[in-house]
Amino acid sequence: MSRPDVVDSVAALRARISDWRRDGLRIALVPTMGALHDGHLSLIKIALERADRCVVSIFVNPTQFAPSEDLDKYPRQLARDLDMLATAKADLAFTPDVSEMYPAGFATRISVGGPSAGLETDFRPTFFDGVATVVAKLLLQAAPDVAIFGEKDYQQLCVVRQLCRDLDLPVEIIGAPTIRDAHGLAMSSRNVYLHEAELRIARQLNLILRKAAAALAAGAGQEETIADASRALIAAGFQKVDYVKARESLTLTPWRHDRAGRVLAAAWLGKTRLIDNVEVPTA
Ligand code: AMP
Repeated sequence: MSRPDVVDSVAALRARISDWRRDGLRIALVPTMGALHDGHLSLIKIALERADRCVVSIFVNPTQFAPSEDLDKYPRQLARDLDMLATAKADLAFTPDVSEMYPAGFATRISVGGPSAGLETDFRPTFFDGVATVVAKLLLQAAPDVAIFGEKDYQQLCVVRQLCRDLDLPVEIIGAPTIRDAHGLAMSSRNVYLHEAELRIARQLNLILRKAAAALAAGAGQEETIADASRALIAAGFQKVDYVKARESLTLTPWRHDRAGRVLAAAWLGKTRLIDNVEVPTA
């Protein structure tokens, strides 16, 4: 299986895409930070169901990392990623370096309101500015018909939808279901940080969230259900719970029982921060 072509400049990306446009092809973009796993590959599969060509960007975006976070040790494995892109039949990898995305003198930051309030922002205050800025750039660089984002990063998906709506970006945003291991742990590039004992604890996260979501669906009180879930995470072995919250699925405002809901959480295992979310089941 041959590896996809790789371009690392915006000019080369645009040249390839305009060739495809001339042929009347539909184009999908899957933005990633690399260290690809089956979750990413599922996004590419959806992309290729909706478009003729799939571009995958691989860029560890420094502006979404706080100084205390893991930018330097974030896993980077381009050769392996390109092999995975070959199996997934992606057409083109876009692998800009930091100076291509943020040349000297770069001075713009996009700040999205609405769904970015609370949850992640309470703990990573500049995270979504970094995400929105890089996603806006990637969407303007590739100008795809569709772009695929995982529900794994549910708040990010909501922020990206808001960004595209507010800036009239002519792209359809597709949310893709979370891919999990056999024990329910959401696949994540950061799972490589976890050793065996931590993995066993990590696998409790989804179970505990599903239990909370089922209790909420059955009419249990929100405050006590959330507090129970938080306690259960600590009892399972998580050292610190940043949040467990029930939110309205579309706006991420506080959940009310008659609305579509989502339970979202972030918790720490050693130096690794895990996030996950589940839908509140409807009858
Ligand atoms: P990342 O490389 O972690 O920035 O993720 C790139 C894209 O893959 C984002 O849209 C993520 O939401 C999505 N993604 C990450 N993990 C998963 C997963 N387990 N299942 C589905 N999508 C995922």
